[in-house]
Amino acid sequence: MSSKNHEGVWADCLKIIKDNVNHQSFKTWFEPIEPVKLEDDVLTIQVPSQFFYEWLEEHYVALLRKTIKRELGANARLEYRIVVENSSGSQTPTTIHYPNYNSGFNKNPEVAAPLIMGNTIKNPFVIPGLKKVNIESGLNPNYNFDSFIEGDCNRLCRSAGYAVAQKPGGTAFNPLVIYGGVGLGKTHLAQAIGNEVKQNFPNKTVLYTNAERFTNQFIESLKNNSVNDFVHFYQLIDVLIIDDIHFFSNKAKTQDIFFHIFNHLHQENKQIILTSDRPPRDLEGVEERLLSRFKWGLSADLQAPDFETRVAILEKKMYADGIELPDDVVEFVAYNITNNIRELEGALVSLLAQASLNRKQIDLDLAKKIVKNFVKNMSREVSIDFIQKAVCDYFEVPVEKLKEKTRKRAIVQARQLSMYLSKNFTKNSLKSIGKHFGGRDHSTVIHSCQAIQNLMDTDSKFKESVEDLTKKIQMSIS
Ligand code: ADP
Ligand code: MG
Repeated sequence: MSSKNHEGVWADCLKIIKDNVNHQSFKTWFEPIEPVKLEDDVLTIQVPSQFFYEWLEEHYVALLRKTIKRELGANARLEYRIVVENSSGSQTPTTIHYPNYNSGFNKNPEVAAPLIMGNTIKNPFVIPGLKKVNIESGLNPNYNFDSFIEGDCNRLCRSAGYAVAQKPGGTAFNPLVIYGGVGLGKTHLAQAIGNEVKQNFPNKTVLYTNAERFTNQFIESLKNNSVNDFVHFYQLIDVLIIDDIHFFSNKAKTQDIFFHIFNHLHQENKQIILTSDRPPRDLEGVEERLLSRFKWGLSADLQAPDFETRVAILEKKMYADGIELPDDVVEFVAYNITNNIRELEGALVSLLAQASLNRKQIDLDLAKKIVKNFVKNMSREVSIDFIQKAVCDYFEVPVEKLKEKTRKRAIVQARQLSMYLSKNFTKNSLKSIGKHFGGRDHSTVIHSCQAIQNLMDTDSKFKESVEDLTKKIQMSIS
């Protein structure tokens, strides 16, 4: 019905499409399309890859159908030509025909069209996040800056992350590498940055994924001969967040492809955020060239939270869940669970569960019972007897001698050291410590502690012994 050629028709189609999709999608998915020919109301367009074609079919089929019909009439049809990269690297266009072609377009995008190609290339991105027109970020909205309590343990990391979120790709923190032990908030903070970017810049494409998923997708794409699509996809992202990159250790091929993507994004001033369970320099089995890229930006660590931060985290969580707990219970939990925020939250949840199960008030007793199951090193009180035994075992002297008047050097030393450790590890008064050593008075205890301190300052071997013993006692507490 039209006297126009394929280029004219497609140009008119693009005008309509442009008004119906957002700018980014238009640039990504429609600008690369080339009109090839127009014959008997059949418009052939060439797309860069199989993945591209599937994406169009899945997300834009209705729009394409309407547009073409408007331009060419009710009988209009569309054919795709896909540029397939073969093993020799040269590119050959392959034309695709639709099965239910005459009815217009494939009405059911779930049913893939049969392809006239050697090997069917499946869409490697079967993760659910990628089914949407706008690439879904994979972010959990609960992980935001509001819910991320600030403390000395995370201040640098948090403010760097916040700065990045205000100006993705525009700060010196690119990449931003967040590292720290298990349960210290790496995932939370990394996602908070992503969520904040999305709020500040709705048009930016943010993607959160982890190194394991990235690796699996890559392996899939190798199998399916669609590595180009894989790379192309990741190169579209404005803010790429990859969690737990220690997973890349010893995966040379994945590192290669990541290196490639990294460079592209970095060059385009796109923001990259990575997390790791250790500082980049300690990542084993990771290529030097990749490690050196990480140094371009900022590596900041999350440390175990101090007591105040732990209390604040518990309180925030309680507030969010609409619960209240007695202060002594909160403090008890915060005091005993020291190096893992996930466990801190876990203890809180168990506490609530137990309380509601047994219809009991949550008091200190219940808290003690529950927290005991949670913490490996809950601070139990250690006794003077226990310390005496540990010291005497260590120096191979009989325990009874500590209580006698013996002035033998070895015994004196063991006695003084036991007093010193008792003062440091127990809550006993000097008087009560003295009693445990054959009724000596408190000034003797003070004198003993000083003597030990002096000896440690002058005799490094003795100091080592004390440290050794201290460790043993601490372990037994745990
Ligand atoms: P990681 O990824 O380092 O193992 P996560 O980010 O999964 O740790 O954090 C574990 C839990 O602790 C999450 O539920 C998270 O919300 C919480 N959390 C961590 N840091 C904080 C913080 N600073 N404020 C509040 N909650 C936190
Ligand atoms: Mg994590």
